[in-house]
Amino acid sequence: LTQLYAPLNFLGFIYREIKNSLSDMERMFGLMDEQQEIKDDKGAIALNTRHAEIVFQDVCFSYESERQILHKVSFRVGAGETVAVVGTSGAGKSTLSRLLFRFYDVSSGSILINGRDIRSYTQLSLRQHIGIVPQDTVLFNNSIYYNIAYGRPSATHDEVIEAAKSASIHQFVSSLPEGYESQVGERGLKLSGGEKQRVAIARTILKDPPILVLDEATSALDTRTERKIQDELFQIAKNRTTLIIAHRLSTIVDADRIIVMDQGKIMEQGTHSELLEKNAIYARMWAMQFQASEIVEASEP
Ligand code: ADP
Ligand code: MG
Repeated sequence: LTQLYAPLNFLGFIYREIKNSLSDMERMFGLMDEQQEIKDDKGAIALNTRHAEIVFQDVCFSYESERQILHKVSFRVGAGETVAVVGTSGAGKSTLSRLLFRFYDVSSGSILINGRDIRSYTQLSLRQHIGIVPQDTVLFNNSIYYNIAYGRPSATHDEVIEAAKSASIHQFVSSLPEGYESQVGERGLKLSGGEKQRVAIARTILKDPPILVLDEATSALDTRTERKIQDELFQIAKNRTTLIIAHRLSTIVDADRIIVMDQGKIMEQGTHSELLEKNAIYARMWAMQFQASEIVEASEP
């Protein structure tokens, strides 16, 4: 029996792993539907907006009943605003985006978009409104073209190329012997972290979603590449409701609001200057990272 059971366990493990990685979120649509973990409400309506306001209201959540991960988390991202979330690893930052995408439902409290609980929208329409540039992108075992076009399968060839250009990946792709038809993924061409991220950005530009979630989107990159991609991301974030989960504070100085999380709780909330003024957790994080970055810059050639 154990022998029979082992592969099932393994599949369960894989399933959980995939489910956890935001990078594979969109690929999971099909699988999630089969699993029927989250169903549409009977009277669910289609979300249809270009101006989305997001509100988290006393959100509590636990993956497993024994351990609560989020404790009464409340914040607001106004339509078109950029709100950043910072905090130690394991604080629950990525969990916020998983809940927004309705990978899981909240245990209590609610998440509202334009005043309505996200559970009252169809899953499909909700997910069509959200674009995610994840921590580390896993590409499909398919062509680069397919991987970008996945953002909006109805896009024309020209639109795909335009998106690639905006994400500064067109030049690189064109230099490959097989161009956009080059196969990528585990069984194809090995792309660097930065190149994969650009493919993910191109995909998101093509998707053109009103809500953007950047989950430590440039953590895999060196400082210089990060700055370049950061500029591109800021361009995309303009006029969209954006949640940035950031590990480098220098990139979020201009955010409309910064949320500081620790162990599933919001500790502080405010603009960069308000939080510096407060001279508490964020101010300490800032001082520490500022020193660290000076050391890095000094040692860079
Ligand atoms: P962050 O993004 O801030 O680093 P996460 O939101 O990914 O943190 O995780 C918050 C907490 O939830 C961590 O303690 C993590 O171990 C836990 N966690 C994440 N995913 C799962 C899961 N599928 N099952 C159980 N615990 C999980
Ligand atoms: Mg995370």
